[in-house]
Amino acid sequence: MSSSQEPLVLIVSGPSGSGKSTLVQRILELPGTMLSVSCTTRAPRKTESAGKWYNFVSEEEFQRMVSAGEFLEYAQVFGKNWYGTPKKSLEEAAAQHKDLVLEIDVQGALQAKRKLPKAVAVFVLPPSRQDLERRIRERGMDSEEEIRRRLEKSRQEILNYDHYDFVIINDDLERAGREAQAIALGSRCSIGRQEARIREILKSFGG
Ligand code: 5GP
Repeated sequence: MSSSQEPLVLIVSGPSGSGKSTLVQRILELPGTMLSVSCTTRAPRKTESAGKWYNFVSEEEFQRMVSAGEFLEYAQVFGKNWYGTPKKSLEEAAAQHKDLVLEIDVQGALQAKRKLPKAVAVFVLPPSRQDLERRIRERGMDSEEEIRRRLEKSRQEILNYDHYDFVIINDDLERAGREAQAIALGSRCSIGRQEARIREILKSFGG
């Protein structure tokens, strides 16, 4: 848990199929963390209940929220559905003194990092194109054309790697999970985040 007012924001992003959700779940096992629940215009899948991973909204409601400036970032993913991180999540995290975890696509991650330069951006990468292709195929959700589109998009996304603070190469889930938790815990200890406490401690020494 963070002690300063602004919550620690962890942006977990990377190509579709790189395994970000699993790593986000590992981070959320740490006490003092919470997930930012995104809004999306996509229809819920059978396994998804509203309000847990997403708030499912109509296109009209999404556009209303865009116009009202209610999103920290938003993007149209794969030219289809809209996804956005409500600014409200930041307030909730601050009120609960929790670290906020965003699981978002690369366009959104770049926007969020621009708006919140102190956020910690984590890039999740598959070990190779072949590995990513195998994962996407195993999910069995996409047509051949869609798979080709996703792989090309992934290449473009990887070219943006230098906007991130950390990278996790997801070739071994156990190790990758430990790395995700280590980044979250380590980020809490950065000098920037601990300055107020350091000053307090210093005061106890007479300043
Ligand atoms: P899915 O529909 O499979 O749950 O998610 C599709 C993509 O949208 C994933 O890459 C996911 O990380 C991304 N995504 C989920 N929520 C958000 C959000 O609030 N903003 C952005 N930019 N992307 C999101």
